[in-house]
Amino acid sequence: MNILFVSSECYPLIKTGGLADVVGALPLAFDPSITNTTVFLPGFPDVLKNIKNTQKIAEFTDLAGGKSSLVKGTSSTGLNVIVMIAPHLFDLEGNPYVDMQGHDRAGNHIRYAAFSKAASDLSIGKLADLYTFDCVHAHDWQAGLTFAYLEAENLPKGPKRILTIHNLAFQGLFPKEIFAQLRLPSSMFSSNQLEYWGQVSYLKAGVVFSDHVTTVSPTYAAEIKTEELGMGFGGLLNAIKDRVSGITNGIDQGIWDPESDPQITASYSAQSLAGKALCKKALQEKMGLTRSVKKPLFCVISRLTTQKGLDLVLKAIPHLLKNGAQIAILGSGDHDLEHRYLEAADKYKGSVSTYIGYNEVLAHQVQAGADFILIPSRFEPCGLTQLCAMRYGTIPVVTRVGGLNDTVIDCNESALKLGLGTGIHLNDVTENALIESLDRSLGLFHSKKLTNKIRKNGMKQDLSWKSPAQAYNDLYSL
Ligand code: ADP
Repeated sequence: MNILFVSSECYPLIKTGGLADVVGALPLAFDPSITNTTVFLPGFPDVLKNIKNTQKIAEFTDLAGGKSSLVKGTSSTGLNVIVMIAPHLFDLEGNPYVDMQGHDRAGNHIRYAAFSKAASDLSIGKLADLYTFDCVHAHDWQAGLTFAYLEAENLPKGPKRILTIHNLAFQGLFPKEIFAQLRLPSSMFSSNQLEYWGQVSYLKAGVVFSDHVTTVSPTYAAEIKTEELGMGFGGLLNAIKDRVSGITNGIDQGIWDPESDPQITASYSAQSLAGKALCKKALQEKMGLTRSVKKPLFCVISRLTTQKGLDLVLKAIPHLLKNGAQIAILGSGDHDLEHRYLEAADKYKGSVSTYIGYNEVLAHQVQAGADFILIPSRFEPCGLTQLCAMRYGTIPVVTRVGGLNDTVIDCNESALKLGLGTGIHLNDVTENALIESLDRSLGLFHSKKLTNKIRKNGMKQDLSWKSPAQAYNDLYSL
């Protein structure tokens, strides 16, 4: 089977969040003699800088009327990629969706429509006839229109269409006036196709014209079929509920491995945790925190948004400090939250440290050095940081939503009796519930034996892509 992934992000070429991790890791988890994957990406400067062994395979006029070409190549991790080179659309430094002020970039509608039209044409051999695909696996709204363009081809038998929604909050909404620029049949601007409350939704196009929709955990798949958590898509997704399922993400256990991670101070494993204390001291030193293994060290590695409940964490900082704990924050996003976390670091020097920005190396060091990671998300499709944390023996403190619910087992008495328990659940997404869970964490920290037991439970799990890859494979071959 030849599968074409269509995505605007792919680790290690370009990444703003979990989407890139999934698209960069899943293709490498398939047996290439059975499932051969190519990732189709927009030619952002970061992508062009990082691909190797390039070869031009097509030239064409794109949907925006500009000259585009397709180049095939490979990533340093061995992924096969095809990149759409179109400087008039993709010559953007930094975040590919929003500008420095956090506003949506002008031209996103035509940028991702032209990308999706090229993906559709590529998949059926219209751009380079040596390349055709049995299945197109589109990711998120940026690739959603691919299936509208495929539908408009009216083929007797086109490639199978799978859409994965990584976060339903991002729906690719644009004013109806742009519809004409998409050059799709006018009948598609209707409430059972692309129209969404008077606007055009690229994600809806992906849902409506797909054979199957997946999302990144079973609990999130159930949540998004409801009115409360469906973000306006609940009715639509519920109407096709048999074609919507959840497959929990894995992580690349080669990249996230405390035994062989070259970016951390000391290596360690579930069998021998001693190195983790050295990583903690190194992190405290690096981030300007008082050096002490006795102080419980909490961390956050995240987009700084209210989705992630980080407004609540801010409020809980005085409580943590009163109990002798420390907190290290690595993140970027909402400017107000960035500012308030920087202020907290200034106010509580030695106990609170904030690094604003995206820093992959520091993410590994924080995961290795921290005792607990805080993820009090209001919703969480899957979440990857709790998986990386468990791999590094860092205990996740999470809300009971989406993938957090599916991947973290609360270490309550009955779970512990069964030898289970990998983290701490919040009962609700409130400041009080967070404080309660922090008190449980602090209590746990005082029992080294129990803390180590929970760390080890997390570290021993198979969090690899092996079983998710099997589930995707089964879908492709249905
Ligand atoms: P999201 O909703 O942002 O996709 P996930 O938990 O699914 O959240 O994935 C986030 C990914 O991005 C994780 O791999 C995490 O380690 C990484 N990450 C988030 N913020 C930062 C940052 N500031 N620096 C480095 N890595 C980060």
